[in-house]
Amino acid sequence: LLKRFLKLRMSTPVSKRLSSHHKMDDLSTQHIVVKSSLAKAISADEKSTVPNDTVVQLYEESLKEIEKALAINLSPADPNFREHLKVKKKLEQHRDSATDRVISLITKSKGAETSIGASKIDSLVRRSIHSEEAEAKSVKKRNLPTSPQFKSTTQPLKPSNRTPNDSSKRISIQPQLGQTASKSPSPQEKIIKGVDPKIAEIILNEIIDTGRTVKFDDISGLREAKAALHEIVILPSLRPDLFQGLRQPAKGLLLFGPPGNGKTMIARAVASECKATFFNISASSLTSKWVGEGEKLVRALFTAARERQPAIIFIDEVDSLLTSRTSGEQDSTRRLKTEFLVQFDGVASDPKERFLVMGATNRPQDLDEAVLRRFVKRIYVPLPTADSRHCLIQTLLKNQIHKLSDRDMSTLALELEGYSGSDITALAREAAYGPIRELTHSQVLKVNAKSVRPIELADFEYARKKVRASVSIETTGCYTDWNAKFGTIL
Ligand code: ATP
Ligand code: MG
Repeated sequence: LLKRFLKLRMSTPVSKRLSSHHKMDDLSTQHIVVKSSLAKAISADEKSTVPNDTVVQLYEESLKEIEKALAINLSPADPNFREHLKVKKKLEQHRDSATDRVISLITKSKGAETSIGASKIDSLVRRSIHSEEAEAKSVKKRNLPTSPQFKSTTQPLKPSNRTPNDSSKRISIQPQLGQTASKSPSPQEKIIKGVDPKIAEIILNEIIDTGRTVKFDDISGLREAKAALHEIVILPSLRPDLFQGLRQPAKGLLLFGPPGNGKTMIARAVASECKATFFNISASSLTSKWVGEGEKLVRALFTAARERQPAIIFIDEVDSLLTSRTSGEQDSTRRLKTEFLVQFDGVASDPKERFLVMGATNRPQDLDEAVLRRFVKRIYVPLPTADSRHCLIQTLLKNQIHKLSDRDMSTLALELEGYSGSDITALAREAAYGPIRELTHSQVLKVNAKSVRPIELADFEYARKKVRASVSIETTGCYTDWNAKFGTIL
């Protein structure tokens, strides 16, 4: 009995471990097969000479390999289980990307309405859903604790309450399915040739700014900066024929200055006034969401912008992305920066590219020198002058009931030396609360909006005690020094 017991004890775990290793090995091998088959498909996709049908076929082959890999399962108790999940998650991402790409290729070449296109899409979608359902079932069977990893892979498709019609959901990330068949693809078309469809989708969905509401007239003061932008950006975008050769506009423009004085606002106004595709990205969207994927995103961003010329790429808070490269920084950050510079150079050296990279920062001194060189024009967005402050106060009070004369406003403007545009906005908000604060709670509820007392100079005086200037004199000094050294003379 003891012998048998010992034999069992010795043999079971080893054999179990062995089979698990085998399975993990199988998965790893299959993963390599998938990668190489995908690489083949992608490289064919990137070549404009390869017909779409061939590319589709290659993707379909990759999809088959992916399904094979996904069919390999390990028990949750297995020591390799975590590793296995990681690989599977990657494979699922590959499958989604490849499926989306195939769908877009089919709709692009044949039109969604044609029966061949439609049936191919249908079978692809079904296959994709089917395997996910199978996956979900096996998850249930294994009675897995819902680890975040698994949640994220199964959640978007909600397999348990899916109806047959839900296949539309699967392709809902391609809302232009019908539209792509039309002759002129919409600017929102979510496909960029040669770019991973998932990344393309992120760029086109999240980065192109569609909320274009700020106008140049909404910005008080900053006359020189506005004039410079008019010349460098707006006019060339409206009359590209005039701005060629020697008159070719600069490809890199940096807005710098203390916080809260309208850099971001100016960029938004540019977006609304010029006829260019505006890619608005913040450095954090490149770095946080896409750890390790940053370079790909940068490359895709430039590819997308090239496809939709004239284009402006605006990077807010550019300092956090392109700070001086240090030896201690992470590899991925460094690669991201290098990629950015390479792409930027590619654009700058080609006179045919109608392209502008625009950055904004309140820490220009932190920028990498190589980056600085590429932002040929550097425009200082300073603290508002007394005139600009006056103008801003006027703008802020325009639609309010108030008793401030023009003289009051200019006195106030003089007193607000050192206040930034956003400080003055905050101050005016605080002052506007003055009349309301005098009322009791029930009065506020009942009072007629027109009979609230007008805002007075005293409200501003009171608010001044609460809202202080946020930029110190020393800080301003840094900016003026930097401007004298590196800024563009306007
Ligand atoms: P940061 O460097 O912190 O990003 P910023 O220069 O980009 O600051 P904005 O975001 O453009 O500052 O401005 C903040 C707010 O301040 C604006 O939303 C606007 O309400 C107000 N503001 C600042 N400058 C002006 C201005 N010149 N005219 C009108 N409003 C302004
Ligand atoms: Mg800003």
